[in-house]
Amino acid sequence: MIRKTFFINFLVLFCLLSIRCQPSQTEESRSTNSLLLISIDGFMNEYIERNETPNFDRFLTNGVQAEYLIPVFPTKTFPTHFSIVTGLYVENHGIISNRFYDYELDAQFAFGPQNSPNDERWWHGEPIWITAENQGKTATTFFWPGSEASYNGVQPTRWIDYDGSVSNHARIDSVMAWLDPSDEGKVQADFSTLYFSFVDSRGHSYGKYSPEVDDAVLEMDGLLGYLLDQIEKKELSETLNVIIVSDHGMADLSETKLIFLEELINLDDVDILDWTPVSLIRPEEGKVDEVYEALKAAEDNFRVYKKENLPERFHFSNHYRIPEIIVIADVGYTITTRQNFEQRGILAATHGFDNFAPEMRTFFAASGPDFIIGEKVGAIEAIHIYELMAKLLNIEPAPNDGDPKRLRHLLKNE
Ligand code: AMP
Ligand code: ZN
Ligand code: ZN
Repeated sequence: MIRKTFFINFLVLFCLLSIRCQPSQTEESRSTNSLLLISIDGFMNEYIERNETPNFDRFLTNGVQAEYLIPVFPTKTFPTHFSIVTGLYVENHGIISNRFYDYELDAQFAFGPQNSPNDERWWHGEPIWITAENQGKTATTFFWPGSEASYNGVQPTRWIDYDGSVSNHARIDSVMAWLDPSDEGKVQADFSTLYFSFVDSRGHSYGKYSPEVDDAVLEMDGLLGYLLDQIEKKELSETLNVIIVSDHGMADLSETKLIFLEELINLDDVDILDWTPVSLIRPEEGKVDEVYEALKAAEDNFRVYKKENLPERFHFSNHYRIPEIIVIADVGYTITTRQNFEQRGILAATHGFDNFAPEMRTFFAASGPDFIIGEKVGAIEAIHIYELMAKLLNIEPAPNDGDPKRLRHLLKNE
């Protein structure tokens, strides 16, 4: 009996010591707070300024908000989201638009249920969920452009093929279960994404000042309240950092602001990889100067550049997928053809314009144990968010274009 008690005591002591001395991978990674990265597509600061949004207020009083976030160029969903999670400018990650043709791969990049771009060859760069997985963390994604692809064979522990019909509450429920250390599903994620598209869609269809957008903003506020309640109920407030970000702003369009491209150049001389508000133009061999000169002579309500002369601040020159000529519509203008306009009309509002245009400014706020509380800081650039997330997750970032020091002022004890 004595010997048995001694043996059990010894065993308990041994277990305690071994836990203390040799923490497992999971325990080590658990010593850092977990991180939830939320994207609300096409969300603008003015949306919460002109609406009563008690749950955004609740989030902001407990955290930090940027005056505005400057996205990367072009301000379209796929390029901007992929820059947020890689810290790479578009010329370095290669997702040059939402849809484009790659002449080397001889393939079309497009999103949608039939052709979800889960092919590794499109995505150049290492998203934060891969950096995390490669360093022993558990990463999950509930939608994010680039999250369906593998990177050198690595994928997040949980990821979902994009399906816009999945309810927003279901997205939140899944992610909260994954992030819950006591959840029976045992995912115990250190990092997750969440993505909501409906505010952007309303903006495109009805315009950014529409009551339909205001309704969507109130719906988003309700969803945020639901999420914050779950964080409290699961007692994750002390261990979970939450970043809410958007990918770009929105600008209203007008039927009086049209650029008919066929009236400026001969469309038979060019391939157009993407149309509006940034036209990516690939002239036939030997026709670059002719096409450029024609556009330059007509430069009104748009800017035209040869790829090599695009101002450095766009960071949109140095990738083989970017064609020779780039036309950027002035904010509010649509590049189209007369026939296309007559058949399909135009959207009420869109994005894609110059990333430094005030209309493309967007939303950033964060809250949690590592963030300063109740402050508003100046404008920040989306390119630095990857470095911030690597710091929060206590992992070594992959090479990127962000500056590790630029967002440190958002953190406590820095
Ligand atoms: P945009 O056309 O630039 O406004 O893009 C917004 C749209 O992108 C949303 O309405 C979604 O339908 C779509 N989207 C966002 N993320 C994904 C994804 N991971 N896969 C496929 N489509 C997506
Ligand atoms: Zn978007
Ligand atoms: Zn959009």
